[in-house]
Formats: sequence, structure tokens, C-alpha cells
Amino acid sequence: AETWESVPLAPPDSIFNLIAAFAADPTPHKVNLSVGAYRDNDGKPWVLPVVKKATQLLLNNPTLDHEYLSIIGLPAFTSAAAKLILAPDAPAITEGRVVSVQTISGTGANHLGALFLSRFYQFNGNKQVYLSKPTWVNHYAVFKNVGITPVEYPYFDPRTLGVDFDGFKSALVDAPTRSIVLMHACAHNPTGVDPSREQWEEIANIILSKGHFAFFDSAYQGFASGDLNNDAWAVRHFANKGVPLLICQSFAKNAGLYGERVGALHVIAPTSEAAKRIRSQLSVLQRSEISNPPAHGARLMSLILNDPKLFEEWDRDIKTMAHRIISMREQLYKLLTEEFKTPGNWEHITKQIGMFSFTGLNQQQSLALVEKAHIYLTNNGRISMAGLNTHNIRYVAECLDKVVR
Ligand code: PMP
Repeated sequence: AETWESVPLAPPDSIFNLIAAFAADPTPHKVNLSVGAYRDNDGKPWVLPVVKKATQLLLNNPTLDHEYLSIIGLPAFTSAAAKLILAPDAPAITEGRVVSVQTISGTGANHLGALFLSRFYQFNGNKQVYLSKPTWVNHYAVFKNVGITPVEYPYFDPRTLGVDFDGFKSALVDAPTRSIVLMHACAHNPTGVDPSREQWEEIANIILSKGHFAFFDSAYQGFASGDLNNDAWAVRHFANKGVPLLICQSFAKNAGLYGERVGALHVIAPTSEAAKRIRSQLSVLQRSEISNPPAHGARLMSLILNDPKLFEEWDRDIKTMAHRIISMREQLYKLLTEEFKTPGNWEHITKQIGMFSFTGLNQQQSLALVEKAHIYLTNNGRISMAGLNTHNIRYVAECLDKVVR
């Protein structure tokens, strides 16, 4: 028999499949609303000016070499990254309770965090993790790969196109004590719907009282509101309340460093002594997985995070991206409600935040947009606002209008 006879053919990744179909589509007015990457007003990838500057600085440094980083990464990067999400004066940082490990972007942070929990977390009964319904689809595979079973908590209410807060709270209350709960730090993917600050406070209280563990996935800090501190509010609130937690941090979106794979895993320990033990075990896990993380992107981010001038410039670049997206939301809303008088309520377009919007279109309508209008979106009705620009927004609004009538 053939050696690999028993290997079944896997289905292609649905998003990357759509991207390929878009690339192959010869229609000039095609629109790509599927990809989770920022585009400028001409639909082009945007290299942040601050990243260009940092790259020049890096290349002009005559002592630059290509030696290995340490197993847990570049300390100047990871410690600045921890301060970015937790605040420079966070008690967990000043008390030496944060373990920071450089990872292969956010996906690698999710994987290493999940692997660490799978090995060392004291599960109460089943080895499982609570994921929001829906969530970034990769979360399912990441946890299954390390032997942790995903279970779902209600998150999105299709009737209000907002958070199903009662469902979310009940699930947290009903979950066995010491459950692991994955939450998106801000700009929830795919729904674009986040809890309010009051709701986060209630969630933190329940999680604390039930002894749950908060697994924060932070892939969009700065992208939601245009303000890095604002977007870190939930994580900081949980940390200050003393909720046991870890954070998976990605610089793919907010620094436009997608392919450079820059990220970090931060675990907050109860004591600095516990932090030392956790760091040692993460180091052992990392060694067998990747030996040491890639240097280039971490060096770029280290320059940007540690130089006040570059940091300020980065902050402005983030605002450029976030505000363009927010303005696309406003324009789309205006076109639908005022110009085309499209049936239905479209307030969620401007209320939802971050890269994505859950339009409320069903599978059939989503498919019709792809097939008839050459507007590419996932069949759950999610559109990437970053794919909209002043050249195509009118066409998109017109086709949205037609497809819901
Ligand atoms: N988490 C969420 C919620 C995401 O949307 C993404 C990016 N699509 C990631 C993690 C990981 O992205 P990356 O590995 O490129 O940092």
C-alpha cells in the first residue's frame, strides 16, 4: 500500500480560499472585504511610516548581526510590550510578576499559552476552554491541537447585532469553578462587538468570584478606538482586580507587521517566585517548539516602543488607520440610510468597532455578493471595513442595498 494512503484531503482554509478567488477574478471593480489586513484608501497594503523609519535605523546600525535571540526572545521588546498592554506602572510589572515570552505573532502566543495551560493548569474536571460564539475560527484548532476541548459561551445576539450579555454572564456562572475563559481584549473578531466598561466590570467580578482564568487575546490594540490605552482598558481592569490571566499579544495589525510574526505571551503570576517557575517552564516548551523566536520584527518593535519620538509617531500612524476605518463606517451608514434608504436598521455599522463588521447578511446574501457583485466576504456576513475606500464604497453600498431588498 502507498505510504500516505490514510491521509485524508483537508478542505482549503476558507478565508485564504476567498483571497485566492479574489486574486483570480478579472473583474476590474471587484472588492475584497474578506481579508483581516489594513488597506489604504487605494486598496493597497500600508507600510507604516514609523516602521520604514525603524527599518532604516536598524539597517544603518553597523553592529547588527544575525545571531540567535534568547529562547524567550528579545528582552527590550518583551518588557516594553508588557508595559504597552498593562501600563508602565502596573503593579504586576513593578512587583516582578509578569512573565513575558516572545512568540510567533498572536497565533504563536495563543498556541504557547494553550500548550502551557494544557501542561500545567489545574483543570477542574474536563480539560476545556470557553470560547465566545462566534470567535476567530483558529481558536478551535489551536486548543484542540494541545488536547484542550473548546466549548462555547453565548456572545453575539443576532437579533440586536450586539453582545448577548445575559447569555454570556449565565455561562460564566454555570461553568465549573476554575474554568478557562478566552476573551478578545478589544475589537472582537469576527463580530466587531465588545462589552461596555460596565459590562466588563461585571464579567471581571463573576470570573473572580468563580475562580476562572482569563485568557485574553489581544490582536487589535489601538485598532478599535485609535487609542492604545483605551483599547487596553479591559485587560488592565482584570489585571488590577487580581483576576488570574494571560495575554496573547500581536503586532500584526497595529504595526502592520503581519508577515514578520511579532508577538508576545504575558502570564501574570501571583508572586515573583511563581513567575520565575512559570518562566522556566515556558522556556522549556519554547525550546522544543521553535528554539528561539525571529529577530527582525522584534527589533523593529523594540525601537518603536522604547524611543519616545518613534512611539509618538507610531501612535499617529495607528490613529491614521483607525480613523480611516471609522470614517468608512460613517460613510457606509450614511449611504445606506440616506442615499439608498435601504430597508432595515444599520446602526450596528457605526456601533461596531475595529477591523470587522458583522453586517447581519445571511449566507445566501453573502454568497450573492461574491458571485453577482464580485464583492468578496466570508459567508457569515462579516466584512473587513479596511477593504472599503472612497473609490468603492458607493458601489458596495449599492450592492448591499440590492441584496437585502
Ligand atoms: N487572534 C485574533 C482574534 C485574530 O483576529 C488574529 C488575526 N487574524 C490573531 C489572533 C492572530 O494573528 P497573528 O498570528 O497574525 O498575530
